[in-house]
Amino acid sequence: MQAVRVGDLTVHPLFDGTAFMQQQDWGGSDWGAHQHLLDADGRVRLPIGGFLVRLGDHLVLLDAGVGDTQNEMYDGGLMLQSLAALGFQPADIDTIVISHLHSDHMGWLERDGQIVFPNATVHVSAADWQHFVHDLGDGRRRANRLLAIESQVQLIHGDDVTILPGLTTRLTPGHTPGHTSMVLSDGDERLIVLGDALHCPAQLTETEWEFVYDVDKALARQSREALLRAAEAPGTALLPCHFPGMQAARLVPARGVRRWVLG
Ligand SMILES: [Zn+2]
Repeated sequence: MQAVRVGDLTVHPLFDGTAFMQQQDWGGSDWGAHQHLLDADGRVRLPIGGFLVRLGDHLVLLDAGVGDTQNEMYDGGLMLQSLAALGFQPADIDTIVISHLHSDHMGWLERDGQIVFPNATVHVSAADWQHFVHDLGDGRRRANRLLAIESQVQLIHGDDVTILPGLTTRLTPGHTPGHTSMVLSDGDERLIVLGDALHCPAQLTETEWEFVYDVDKALARQSREALLRAAEAPGTALLPCHFPGMQAARLVPARGVRRWVLG
């Protein structure tokens, strides 16, 4: 998969596998104008993974895939191979930021109860930690998986928190209570790595489509629309986790309409 550039930074997609979604997973959706996003069986295939970027002396992972998981929704397991193909091992990563604690974004943090990235601090929003660990938002098993990495976790409190120079957070709640986007900045350019605030390119224009797994659908829509507006700023691109080819979306000047390009 092609790297995404922001200023002099290079953001590498780390492909982990595929999620198989149904058209009706987006409430209110009409796929008539978006047939090219469907596979031969009428499903929506979403790539799963994370992104790797070097910031100064730091090797940073943004989201952590689904892990070695195969079921009717997910076919994962390739992320460490994708990392190795770039010449890195899990121990090389010192900073991890997780957009939210759904299974396809935290999957490689632990394996059979063992920490996978032994030298990393894992930054997670306090609101998501509360929801998934203390309130058992996705059940006891998810909570236990997260408790296995608790010693590495640093909770993110509030908005616009600096993780490292050139990497800040932006609260984009709704998909989950503490869903957090990550803003990479270099020179005059900005890349907003936005996790699951958008799931597929149709939502760039069909902003009212609601995703079945958005915990608070109205709030998710507000966050989505705010991110789409943020992309109007010069030099700003959006990088969702699940877009085709794990590519970014950019607005290009067009008369009267918002026109998006991927890549
Ligand atoms: Zn996801």
